[in-house]
Amino acid sequence: MSQTLLEMAKDLVMAQIEAQRLPPDEMHAALQQTYASLQALKAQEDVNGTVAVVTPERPSKPVNWRKSITKHAVTCLECRASFKQLSVRHLKDHGLDGRSYRAKYGIPRTQPLSAKETTAIRKEIVQRSRPWEKAPTYLKAHEKAQKAVAQRKRTAPRKGTVKKKA
Ligand SMILES: [Zn+2]
Repeated sequence: MSQTLLEMAKDLVMAQIEAQRLPPDEMHAALQQTYASLQALKAQEDVNGTVAVVTPERPSKPVNWRKSITKHAVTCLECRASFKQLSVRHLKDHGLDGRSYRAKYGIPRTQPLSAKETTAIRKEIVQRSRPWEKAPTYLKAHEKAQKAVAQRKRTAPRKGTVKKKA
């Protein structure tokens, strides 16, 4: 690259402004974004010599991770130790975290790294306390939905409200 990244980013953004595809007051944000993208590309280029298409990392030999998670235990696929739950601290000993561990062994992101029994108990606790109902976005949506229901009730013809005689 003969130009510096910043020069390139500036030229790209200026070209967009000249083409009137970008309002001038958005230049700063666009410049930052473009620069960051170029920087990321440059970093890749430096590593590989060419800009490589990112391919997901695959384990050298397929490990059946399903066997590592049983009802009563989860087995660390790095060192074969068993736990109720594979902790972040333990994974750190292997230089991994939940994400990289899952990626390494092809474990889905949604798979809890704990014994099935432990997962079930935790699920039950979560179900019972319903923490998402305390989240502002949930409350807002819920309120909206309730208002809509109330409105529908007000405007809808009365149905099912007729008292049954015994
Ligand atoms: Zn381990």
